[in-house]
Amino acid sequence: MNERPLVAWDVDKTLIDAGPGGGDIMDVAVSRTLDRVLEHGVRFGGKTDPRIAAEILAASDVPLPHDEHVATVLTHLEDVLRERAHLLAAQGRVLPGVRETLKRLHDLGAVQTVLTGNIRPNALVKISAFGLDEFLDLEVGAFGSDHASRPQLLPLVLERAALKYRRTWTPQQTWVVGDTEFDHECAAASGARCLLVATGSVDYDTLGTLGADAVRHDLSDADAVVSLLTGR
Ligand SMILES: [Mg+2]
Repeated sequence: MNERPLVAWDVDKTLIDAGPGGGDIMDVAVSRTLDRVLEHGVRFGGKTDPRIAAEILAASDVPLPHDEHVATVLTHLEDVLRERAHLLAAQGRVLPGVRETLKRLHDLGAVQTVLTGNIRPNALVKISAFGLDEFLDLEVGAFGSDHASRPQLLPLVLERAALKYRRTWTPQQTWVVGDTEFDHECAAASGARCLLVATGSVDYDTLGTLGADAVRHDLSDADAVVSLLTGR
């Protein structure tokens, strides 16, 4: 029984679709950094912002080293999303069943937070734009600004939650919910449980091959998701 699990939610394409306002902010941030547009085929889903920025630079002819450029891209990334924050709620959406699932888990005493590749300020802007912050404890979350490697983020959530709540969660009581193989990789690295949802760029059948505890098309069946995560 995991009656009061710790649930670490991915943000983009798991809780929300940020819409066009959030869509190309990385490319805008890169072009502000270098004063030109870089062509690249880098896939974003499930990766942290610093990793995406580094991969875009690596795919280009920008001379090494790239670390300073990555830092500048992340600064611009924060600015671009702040400029567009008003577009998020207007053009984006909360994904099916998310609000109901978050509310019910919250009411059952689960500790819920985010584990996201977004840099911290951008995750906060996105979550609050859609009014999901009332169900999430963002203080104990982990963000792309904490580490470029997603598997490094779950130990941070566990540590921050243990400090704040003065209790520990076993791997069996800890869930990562996300929409890509990178979310699963992050859960597996800590032995945590993993629910994957096919609301992002990876299709249901592919997610099913990864070895997650559960795969769902979306979160619209809040009953089933709450039962799964609480072991009830
Ligand atoms: Mg995602």
